[in-house]
Amino acid sequence: MHKTNQTDILIIGAGLAGLTAAASLLEHGKSVKILESRSRIGGRIQTVGVQKNQPIELGATWLGSKHKSLLQLLTSLGIEIFKQEIGGRAFFEPISTSPPYLVSVPESQEPSYRIKGGSYTLIDTLVEKVGKENIMLEEKVVSIRSTSDGIQVETTDGRYHATKVISTLPPHLLVNRITFEPVLPQTLIDTANQTHTWMDDAIKVAITFATPFWTDQNKSGTLSSHVGPIHEMYDHSHPEKSFFALMGFMNGSYFSLSKKERLTKVIHQLTKYYGEAANQYLSYEEKVWRQDEDTYHPYQSHILPHQNNGHKLYQSLYMNDRLILSGTETSAVFPGYMEGAVVSGLHAAKAAISE
Ligand SMILES: Cc1cc2nc3c(=O)[nH]c(=O)nc-3n(C[C@H](O)[C@H](O)[C@H](O)COP(=O)(O)OP(=O)(O)OC[C@H]3O[C@@H](n4cnc5c(N)ncnc54)[C@H](O)[C@@H]3O)c2cc1C
Repeated sequence: MHKTNQTDILIIGAGLAGLTAAASLLEHGKSVKILESRSRIGGRIQTVGVQKNQPIELGATWLGSKHKSLLQLLTSLGIEIFKQEIGGRAFFEPISTSPPYLVSVPESQEPSYRIKGGSYTLIDTLVEKVGKENIMLEEKVVSIRSTSDGIQVETTDGRYHATKVISTLPPHLLVNRITFEPVLPQTLIDTANQTHTWMDDAIKVAITFATPFWTDQNKSGTLSSHVGPIHEMYDHSHPEKSFFALMGFMNGSYFSLSKKERLTKVIHQLTKYYGEAANQYLSYEEKVWRQDEDTYHPYQSHILPHQNNGHKLYQSLYMNDRLILSGTETSAVFPGYMEGAVVSGLHAAKAAISE
C-alpha cells in the first residue's frame, strides 16, 4: 500500500508552465509539489552541451519583443538575451531542379532573440526558485480521482493528495495518458483529442564545426529550402564566437530513418552549399520529438498546426473546480510558444489561489 503525500497544490509537469506556476505559488506562501514523468526537468526546453559552455537547443530557442510575459520573467530572474544573427544573406532553394540561390536579406524590423547561456538557463534559474526538493522526477501521473476534500493523484509508484491540481500536459497527452474519476466532460475529451501539441513532430538537427566557414566563405548560415530535408537553418554559434554551429529543422517525415541515415542526409545537403568544409564537422546532435512519449501521442485524425490551441474549454475549471488546465496549448495568447507557457503558468497559479 502506498503512503499518500499531502500538499496544497500539485502541479503535473516540470516544463516552463509548471515551473512558472510553482514559482508564483511559492511566492504566495502555498506548498507546492511538481510531478514530472521524465528524469530531466524542462519538457520541450532541452539544451545540451551546457557543461562545455556550448549550448545547443534541441527544443525552444527564439523569442521576440511581443513576448511580454516571457521577457518580464527573464528580466525578473536577471537572465539576458541576445539577437539571433541572420546576416545580410541567406540560401534560398525554391526548387529541386535548380541550384540554391544566395539572396540578400533586409534587416528585420522585429528580430528574434535567444537566451544567453541557452534556453535551459531559464529552466535552471526557475528550479533554483522552486527548490529541487519540490520537484519529483520519474513520477508519471496515471490517474486523477476526485475525493470528498480534494484530489488524489496516482503515479506509477506513488500517491499524492492535494487541494488543487494544475495539469501542464499538452491537452492531447492529458486525455490519452491519464484516467479520470469521474470522467472528464466528453466535449473536453473530444477537443483535447483534436488539439495539436506544438512541435511534437519536429526534428531538430545541430552540427558543430571548428570554424564558421559559412561566414569565412562570405556565404551564410541561414537557409530556407523547399527541397530539404532541412527546410530551415540558422547560425547557432556562440555569440562570443567560442564555438560554431549550424542548427536546423529537418522535415518531420524523416523520423523513421536511423540517426546515421539522417546525419548522412544532413551532410549531403550542407555540402551543396559549402562544399567539402561541411564534411569536417566536430559533432552532430539531433532530437526527433515524435519519438519522445512525454511530448508526442499519435492522433486519431489529421490535425492542423495549432489546431484548438487556446480553446475556451481550457479556461474552465474541472473536478469541482479543483483541476486547473495549464501548459502552452491552453494559453489564450501565443499558444504553443514559451510565451504561452509563461502566461498559462501565471494564469493557473492565480486560479489556484482564488477560492
Ligand atoms: C523542437 C521545438 C522547437 C521549439 N521552438 C520554440 C521557439 O523557438 N520559441 C518558442 O517560444 N517556443 C518554441 N517551442 C515551444 C516551447 O518549447 C513550448 O511552448 C514550451 O516549452 C512548453 O512548455 P510547457 O510547460 O507548456 O509544456 P512542456 O514543456 O511539454 O511540459 C510538460 C511537462 O509534462 C511532463 N509530462 C508529460 N506527461 C506526464 C505525466 N503523465 N506525468 C507527469 N509529467 C508528465 C513532460 O515530461 C513535460 O516536462 C519549441 C518546441 C519544440 C519541441
